Parts: sequence; structure tokens; C-alpha cells
Amino acid sequence: MGEIDIFRKLMKAEERRRRVERRVLVEHIEIKEVLPCITTPGYIRFTAQADADLREIIPVLFLSFPPGKAVYNEAEGSLTLRLYNRLISLFPSGKIGVTNTRDLKEAEEVLSKIRGFINEAYSTYLRVGPPRREDIEAVKKLSWMDIYRHLPKANCGECGHKTCQALALKVLLGEARLSQCVKLKEEKYRSNVKRLKETLGPFLLKALGWEGVRSGRGIA
Ligand code: SF4
Repeated sequence: MGEIDIFRKLMKAEERRRRVERRVLVEHIEIKEVLPCITTPGYIRFTAQADADLREIIPVLFLSFPPGKAVYNEAEGSLTLRLYNRLISLFPSGKIGVTNTRDLKEAEEVLSKIRGFINEAYSTYLRVGPPRREDIEAVKKLSWMDIYRHLPKANCGECGHKTCQALALKVLLGEARLSQCVKLKEEKYRSNVKRLKETLGPFLLKALGWEGVRSGRGIA
């Protein structure tokens, strides 16, 4: 290995150390190509490049969104998210594709949000490490029934949905939050929450919109 290669390697290691210290994986995302949007006339779609490799963080991101919003292609290591009324594709190389965007100003706003959730996932990754294989499999297999069976089944409508079944389905699709179930926060349903945590794990529970129950002992 030549001196230049060694220098490059050291620089890369130093850059990585700096990012770990600041808990920031992606500092900058640059727009590379802008094309007409296929689905919305007058809108654009674009590709952009993040200044970091995303392969380690993509599985974490997969677990950070409700299953109805995320499609993880394990063979190519890519993730497609249905967010902010558009499709966002993330690739291991750091390439990012975004559809259905009004103009370049809105494109920058979307990229800022993407950078935000990538760095949030990175912070989680540094804290708890990569997701386990079984966690990824569990999310892929999750159905609305897996959520419904732990709800109070009171059909009280306090969540804004007529039935618990309807809320479970919306939560899976990412169109409602688990915390909307008011009854689930009551003391008598504490064991339901415990079972939900055991079955789904803390990542998925958070992705499904469980904000915990405030009590004297903090958030459970
Ligand atoms: S608030 Fe909870 S118990 Fe009431 S209908 Fe909604 S999901 Fe069911």
C-alpha cells in the first residue's frame, strides 16, 4: 500500500471517528439529477447523493417506520419509504431517489427531513447496535391481527375509529398511532402493553406510534 493510500485510509478513519462522536452520519446530500415526475404532471422527481454509505443504517430505518410505510429489499439492501406523499428510495451507496416533488426548493426541504431521520436512526444504531435478524423477520410478517390481539377490544371509539380492528389496521399502515388508543394507557391494560412490548420489541412499538404511559415512575 502506497503512502497516499495509507493517508486516505487514515483520513477516512478520522472522518468516521468524528461522525461517531457527533452522532451524525450524513452531513450533506447533494441533488444529482432532476427529471419530470411520472405520476404528477408539472412536478419533478430527483436523485441525490448522501456523503455517507447507508448500508448499515438501512435495516435500522426499516424498523423505524410502520410496516405499511416501508419496503425493504434485502437482496439489494435498499429501502423504499412512502412518506410525505411521495416515494423515497435509499440505497446502500448513499444514493437517494425521491418522487412527486413540486420544485427544487421543496426538494431541499425533503432532503433536510431525510437527513434528519437518517441521523436519528444512526444515533439509535450507535446506542443499541444493528437490529437482530429476528426483529427484521418479525416486521416483515407483522399483520394487523398481531396489533389487534393486544388492544382492549372495547370498541369505544375514543381513538377516532369505530372499532379496535380499524385502529389496528391503520396503525399497521402508518395512518394512525398506537397511542391513539386511550384505553391502552389505563392501569388495567398495563399487561397488554407489556405483551405488546415483548411481542413487537421496543423499536417496532415506537415505529407504530406508542409514546408510552406517563406515570410517577416515568414513561412505560
Ligand atoms: S380507543 Fe382503544 S379500545 Fe377504544 S376503539 Fe380505539 S382501539 Fe379500541
